[in-house]
Amino acid sequence: MILFYQFIYYICVMTESTRHIKRRHRIMDQIAKRTNIDDRVIEAMKRVPRQLFVSAKYEHMAYNDRPLPIAAGQTISQIYTVAMQTNLLKLQEGASVLEIGTGCGYQTAVLCELGYRVYSIERHEELYHIAQKNINSLGYSALLVYGDGFEGLPQYAPFDGVLITCGAPQIPEELIKQLAVNGKMVAPIGQDVQEMMVIQKISEHKNKITKEGAYKFVPMLSGTVNKASVDQNI
Ligand code: SAH
Repeated sequence: MILFYQFIYYICVMTESTRHIKRRHRIMDQIAKRTNIDDRVIEAMKRVPRQLFVSAKYEHMAYNDRPLPIAAGQTISQIYTVAMQTNLLKLQEGASVLEIGTGCGYQTAVLCELGYRVYSIERHEELYHIAQKNINSLGYSALLVYGDGFEGLPQYAPFDGVLITCGAPQIPEELIKQLAVNGKMVAPIGQDVQEMMVIQKISEHKNKITKEGAYKFVPMLSGTVNKASVDQNI
């Protein structure tokens, strides 16, 4: 009898994960069909289980192409947005990438899948811990930091790429300083609505900027939010 229940449990777990894999492949194939996103990015995203980055409440929506709520009033980016930003970054395997706005760590995992050396900063301590757990449990090795992304990580600079996943009011100068010459920043810039910009550092004092359309991100805010202070306010 116990064996029977074990069998049923096994079937449930297996079909559940097969269902997620199927849905993940379907949405990534749809995105590939309607965009010019590189196959490397599409294939990397087919390997990252997005359902594990959202709470149980939103698990059934993990493969809807839309942002979803995560802890601390933030959101996990829409699937298409992650694909598009990752595609704009396009670096060689082994490149060093600084991500600003770890959130739950989904984009971080995608960058790891592409073989980048990933550093990521999150200003909410609660999210930093959640992301660390997600990244560890999937066996990725990114360096996650609880801190203010406006400051970057000068001790690990220069970076080949900087990817900002929150809306910065203007191009963060300190992060440009931490970019290697020939490095690239992908960042949504603007107050209410952001323009996706690719900022290529062509020399120590010269950048080339290209604009890639309008998006709406949660704002990039300065300072950090400590978990104890949030708990006290509840
Ligand atoms: N990369 C995430 C996106 C999370 S949303 C994903 O994979 O879905 C953007 C995140 O940026 C939020 O978690 C927010 O707290 C964070 N953020 C905003 N301003 C920041 C700053 N100055 N430094 C670090 N993180 C910041």
